[in-house]
Amino acid sequence: MNKVPFVTKEQVEEMARTYPTPFHLYDERGIRENVKALKEAFSWNPGFKEYFAVKATPNPFLMQILQEYGCGCDCSSYTELMLSEAIGVKGADIMFSSNDTPAEDFAYADKLGAIINLDDITHIDFLEKTIGHIPETISCRYNPGGLFKISNDIMDNPGDSKYGMTTEQIKDAFQILKEKGAKEFGIHAFLASNTVTNDYYPMLAKVLFEQAVRLQKETGVHIKFINLSGGIGIPYTPDQEPNNIRAIGDGVRRVYEEVLVPAGMGDVAIYTELGRYMMGPYGCLVTKAIHEKHTHKEYIGVDACAVNLMRPAMYGAYHHITVLGKEEAPCDHKYDVTGSLCENNDKFAIDRMLPKIDKGDYLVIHDTGAHGFSMGYNYNGKLKSAELLLKEDGSVQLIRRAETPADYFATFDCFEIGKTLIS
Ligand SMILES: *Cc1c(COP(=O)(O)O)cnc(C)c1O
Repeated sequence: MNKVPFVTKEQVEEMARTYPTPFHLYDERGIRENVKALKEAFSWNPGFKEYFAVKATPNPFLMQILQEYGCGCDCSSYTELMLSEAIGVKGADIMFSSNDTPAEDFAYADKLGAIINLDDITHIDFLEKTIGHIPETISCRYNPGGLFKISNDIMDNPGDSKYGMTTEQIKDAFQILKEKGAKEFGIHAFLASNTVTNDYYPMLAKVLFEQAVRLQKETGVHIKFINLSGGIGIPYTPDQEPNNIRAIGDGVRRVYEEVLVPAGMGDVAIYTELGRYMMGPYGCLVTKAIHEKHTHKEYIGVDACAVNLMRPAMYGAYHHITVLGKEEAPCDHKYDVTGSLCENNDKFAIDRMLPKIDKGDYLVIHDTGAHGFSMGYNYNGKLKSAELLLKEDGSVQLIRRAETPADYFATFDCFEIGKTLIS
């Protein structure tokens, strides 16, 4: 597939007059079309709800777009809960799927009326001691262990993952929670990440639905929802075939009708906690080439760095790059595209074939809409960039300003910028 940016050179030049690069840019139209298609694909399930994984793109302006379509928020920390509250997402519209959870976070989630998804059986006691009761609606995270395979392909390794309860534990947890007064139960599992196949959700659904039927039989609890969590991926590379959300929804429906309906569980709601799928393709990092360097390799230095997008440095992840205005030019130059951190892994691309890049060219780094800006950090005293929204009418809205040195200094109470110690 030819990966085409959702923004042109002319538009970026116009934006850069007001907002210097680097910046993250989001595509309102793409976000809206995608969330509509997701809802449509699961419209067969009356209780269906997407709880957007806030950690992927924790920007209230973008969260509000999803909120218009009835999406809730999946939070895993105190501040993510605050973000949800700030846009008016409260109560059962919040899924609190955390792990290694601090007491304050449980207390705040409970105060907001969030659905609490317990990562471990020991958290039952911890939660009860913290908030003084067990909520009527409660969810438990399941981890069947072993390898998660689709045919012979290993998708991921749940047996090596820190999350969730074993098969024995989740049964015991449901029994204990029931004795303590819980009435409505949910099951959650996240067994493979960034899957680019229409089979992941249906396979996961089969595991969870069968487990749900067993749990309902063995413990007598009422299972209200099954949360398929995140994990639907996006095609980062041009050769990958995008997921077909319609086929995924239909696949889950088949398993639902095969496993849950015959067990008398046709009232179970399907929840999702998608992050990457909701936002990934609808964001990009726009950066300018500011240096070229010819040593043992050919380097293009840009004004963004791993602080703006950590995935290549952290996971060796591929992010497609388009040189704006040179979309049709032959990719006959081999470059490492680097940032300025004092870290040799600060490279957005290694040995990448690209058109000849000149200083001043704008580069679009694709698919940064999820787990992009949000993973940012401040190494080397680098500041986080702005986030801009390209609206459906073509206008641009600043949805987060760039950090300034004052933001960096804000946590040193006794220092001021440009001055020496003042107290
Ligand atoms: C990260 C995460 C998600 C979202 O994952 P994606 O891969 O972005 O879809 C959902 N739920 C939980 C609990 C997570 O930790």
